[in-house]
Amino acid sequence: MTVPQRRKTPTVMVGGVAVGSEHPVVVQSMTNTDTADAKGTAEQIALLAGAGSEIVRITVNTDEAAAAVPEIAERLADLGVTVPIVGDFHYNGHLLLHRHPLAAVALAKYRINPGNVGTKRRDENFRTIVAIAAANGKTVRIGVNWGSLDQDLLTELMDENARSGEGRDAKSVYIEAMLQSALRSAVLAEEAGLGHDRIIISAKVSGVRDLVQVYRDLASRCDYPLHLGLTEAGLGTKGIIASSAALSVLLSEGIGDTIRVSLTPRPNGDRSEEVRVAQQILQSLELRNFAPQVTACPGCGRTTSTFFQHMAEDIQNYLKEQMPQWQSRYPDVVNMKVAVMGCVVNGPGESKHANIGISLPGTFEDPKAPVYIDGALSVTLKGDSIVPEFLRILDDYVERNYRSAAVSATV
Ligand code: SF4
Repeated sequence: MTVPQRRKTPTVMVGGVAVGSEHPVVVQSMTNTDTADAKGTAEQIALLAGAGSEIVRITVNTDEAAAAVPEIAERLADLGVTVPIVGDFHYNGHLLLHRHPLAAVALAKYRINPGNVGTKRRDENFRTIVAIAAANGKTVRIGVNWGSLDQDLLTELMDENARSGEGRDAKSVYIEAMLQSALRSAVLAEEAGLGHDRIIISAKVSGVRDLVQVYRDLASRCDYPLHLGLTEAGLGTKGIIASSAALSVLLSEGIGDTIRVSLTPRPNGDRSEEVRVAQQILQSLELRNFAPQVTACPGCGRTTSTFFQHMAEDIQNYLKEQMPQWQSRYPDVVNMKVAVMGCVVNGPGESKHANIGISLPGTFEDPKAPVYIDGALSVTLKGDSIVPEFLRILDDYVERNYRSAAVSATV
């Protein structure tokens, strides 16, 4: 697969993370704790960072939340977590950042929604936030959202559309209002002293096709790095599929510099699922590798026992468990491909395309499992210990092929 040519942008720093065309697409997430609870918020940020989130956003909505930000940063430093934290501001960001200068310093980026910075003194409030960002050397994300669009601008464009007689449909005027809100705010931010390389833009909607249209237009009208995400993606499978569909189209066109998958977690569910989904989208598109990939066939009537499903799951879990220690010892192991196939129909063929692969015996086949390494038959496993033997072969393969030069030199 040809890797898509990324759209050219300036490099924008978010803390220590570089965002923009020549840098890897960055995975972001957001906490759902009460930010005023510094301990709980720091713990969830650490969880998200541990899962692979490279930037984490927190709500900063009250004085208590803003006051907790420096403590959150301290707690993270104590835990050795260096992930940049982004403050999400609506309505009172200009007041909170002014009243809590330590929070302004501790945050790596401020997210401002131009539709939510006030009505009468909108531009003045926006300029206040931007001035604080510029003074502290921070980046700003101008994050427009379909659900909280600047109503004055929308009315202005609707009136203009009515007067012009062009008869554009309401949705396209709505989308134009989103784009203009983001782009006008970016101009205002630069006029207020923020560097061109301190701005990231997002314009989120909840429909897949609308999101694609919005970002294609945005990408053609500016060179700021773009943060992608389907807003309110939803629960479970629906949220994952809708986000994957939208982000895949755009990322395949080279559009998008950071991504977030906004899943609604189940009550007490695992917040870090959104991080794993975002990583898997990037890995599936062959834009970045985060962990070895397991190719497993879906199974069919040729493999009627559940042994095959258990084995595919055991191998996937084993790889996941090993990754924390493998990351430093075998940094390139993320590029490894493992095939776990249910029978000989496609098993050997798929195994040959992987670094290491196994085909289990299907129903009525001889009870043996050929293992392929780098495209060639290596060994045929039999009996009850196929899984542990395969894992031992896998370990050996990783040690022989992915040991880092630094580790080899110290041994
Ligand atoms: S590899 Fe075999 S078991 Fe798996 S889906 Fe294909 S035919 Fe069915």
